[in-house]
Amino acid sequence: MSTNSAKFIFEELIQGNLRFQKNQSTTIINNKEVLSNEPKAIILSCIDSRVIPEVIFDQGIGDLYVSRIAGNIENKDIINSFEFACNFKGCKVLIVLGHEDCGAVTSVCDNHETLFVNLKPHIAPAIKAISQKINFDKDRNQYITKVSELSVLLTLDRIRFKSPILSNLEKNNELILVGAMYSLITGEIRILN
Ligand SMILES: [Zn+2]
Repeated sequence: MSTNSAKFIFEELIQGNLRFQKNQSTTIINNKEVLSNEPKAIILSCIDSRVIPEVIFDQGIGDLYVSRIAGNIENKDIINSFEFACNFKGCKVLIVLGHEDCGAVTSVCDNHETLFVNLKPHIAPAIKAISQKINFDKDRNQYITKVSELSVLLTLDRIRFKSPILSNLEKNNELILVGAMYSLITGEIRILN
């Protein structure tokens, strides 16, 4: 497998997360010798202070483009950044990373009127779908977990739909687009799909 292939880079990230889980991280995070800006992958994650992509994938300076926003959802500016990253910088992996105990997703599920007003329409389709399967009052935790997971997958679908550039790269096997969930307890990044 070429060290420049999407599959190889994806596997590198998975291996980095395994090292992190086992407390065997090897990356020197303060390496100031990296002067080029040629990251191999993009992570779209939450602003949550506990979800730090470089740390949980055991990657260093210059390895990742990272976009962080409450609820790890897309918008047109973020998508435009991803198109730049893939088209001009050659990134070959894009991971939309949700996480356990997401305050943003939880506040939307709880129908909190004043928090994350702009996030609501992004999470609403996942809430609608999960409400048909799980009763919020009976099983709130399970409900929020499933909404978080589905929202990651729907975010991926919207990225594909809104960006012909990225979806074409994916169709040509030049870009791996996946969703994943991060466990705050174990440090595991579980691939969805
Ligand atoms: Zn969050």
